[in-house]
Amino acid sequence: MIQQSFIKELTGIVGRDNILSSRKDLLAYSYDSTSRQEMPEVIVFPRSTAEVSGVIKAAHRDKVPVIARGAGTNLSGGTIPDRGGIILELSRMNRILDIDTANHRAVVQPGVVNLDLQNALAPFGFVFPPDPASQEMSTLGGNVGENAGGPHCLKHGVTSKYVYGMEVVLSDGEVINVGGSVEDNPGYDLRGLLIGSEGTLGIATRLTLHIIPKPETSRTLLVIFETLENASQTVSDIIGAGIIPGAMELIDKTTCWAIEQGISAGYPTDAEAVLLIELEGLQDSLDRQVRDISEICQKNKVRELRIAKTSAEQAALWQGRRGAFGAIARICPQYIVMDGTVPRNKMVPTIHRVDEIAKKYHLTIALVAHAGDGNIHPLILFDTGNPEEIVSARKAGDEICELCSSMGGTITGEHGVGLEKLHAMFTQFSSADLSAMRRVKEVFDPEGILNPGKLLPPEEDESLHETKEVAG
Ligand SMILES: Cc1cc2nc3c(=O)[nH]c(=O)nc-3n(C[C@H](O)[C@H](O)[C@H](O)COP(=O)(O)OP(=O)(O)OC[C@H]3O[C@@H](n4cnc5c(N)ncnc54)[C@H](O)[C@@H]3O)c2cc1C
Repeated sequence: MIQQSFIKELTGIVGRDNILSSRKDLLAYSYDSTSRQEMPEVIVFPRSTAEVSGVIKAAHRDKVPVIARGAGTNLSGGTIPDRGGIILELSRMNRILDIDTANHRAVVQPGVVNLDLQNALAPFGFVFPPDPASQEMSTLGGNVGENAGGPHCLKHGVTSKYVYGMEVVLSDGEVINVGGSVEDNPGYDLRGLLIGSEGTLGIATRLTLHIIPKPETSRTLLVIFETLENASQTVSDIIGAGIIPGAMELIDKTTCWAIEQGISAGYPTDAEAVLLIELEGLQDSLDRQVRDISEICQKNKVRELRIAKTSAEQAALWQGRRGAFGAIARICPQYIVMDGTVPRNKMVPTIHRVDEIAKKYHLTIALVAHAGDGNIHPLILFDTGNPEEIVSARKAGDEICELCSSMGGTITGEHGVGLEKLHAMFTQFSSADLSAMRRVKEVFDPEGILNPGKLLPPEEDESLHETKEVAG
């Protein structure tokens, strides 16, 4: 329990205008984008690395939990303060410090919103490829914390590929630099270790990012299918033919319908599935790719292939896709977002099994997917007023995690483990694997103050899981 004297000390570090501790303010920071809720004890908004370091030093001395937070859009409970403590809100460290097109580099503070960087890069003809669907809200620090993906990560790769270096505050307040300002650096790749570590190993206070020139031109295709299987098979066949689109998203009928209820983005509401494909590159090569893709679609019994004719049509289709989670929330406010990734050639059987799981538990499971990556987001809809349905939704979620793992994939492709997928870690990793991760945590955070209880499941629960496996 934090004392008033401690809050006074933090006020001395960040200033009176950069700290909140009233009940209503704490309530506002008790959520993230999951359905969980726990109260923090104080919120601080540092504006510099020195202030972050000062806050962490005080927390380290008094063993107070510190939860780094960007925009709180994570879908895994990663910023839920379930052990109280400090929410370290980095949104006021939001300056773009440098854009260096000659070296394909941008230097930013962690609280810069992803889309703000994209907008700043646009006049230079550059982009930062990782583009989570939450890019209008989520911060680059949060993207690094979760190793975020996005539609365009199919061709370009996820966040970890685009971070050259980072300034990081460690759990005792010491400031270090990992990586550098070019691609390859000597020594241990601590940069790689910290990316995706969900605020459990250190706090990123400055990021040196890799930016790339915007492609010369792009074309958006909406491909409409009568079955999910044909749509998924088309994804495998396109990649198998050596064509790597900029993005290839799969959206099922429920989600198309939900999108069209909110905005008229141009999706059909009567087809079982659509693929939203973006091709990017040189004009001539795009004509050939459209021809090849069209042939593959014909083989997979496509109903219709539309090419967006104007940039407004293109933008509307993408706005629909980016708004898919919000659209589902309008028809059912509570749902669990799953985030498994499976090898592309396992997409068809995985989607079949997800459908069986939905039937088994009498649930509606909508589906969107960064399909080109094999990253599927089954959205498990449930009624919060129906306790049995809540239990069924959780069980269905567990089965989907196990399914993705058994298909040779992962329990989370981009949303992180947080609190939501803690126990699913046992389905993917052996006790030796988890023990190696716990030893890393021990080195970086011996007092266990940085986002405690996230990402690593408790060692004592391992025996429960083993018992379950033998019995099951
Ligand atoms: C509508 C919607 C669509 C989404 N689409 C995608 C998508 O396409 N792809 C995708 O990958 N995700 C997606 N997400 C999930 C989420 O937006 C991402 O995980 C995003 O990267 C989180 O950024 P944030 O700023 O909100 O971070 P937060 O949620 O605040 O934090 C995320 C994690 O990072 C840690 N963290 C935050 N800042 C720092 C820092 N400076 N140093 C160290 N650790 C830090 C936190 O402790 C936490 O563990 C979506 C979410 C929503 C609501």
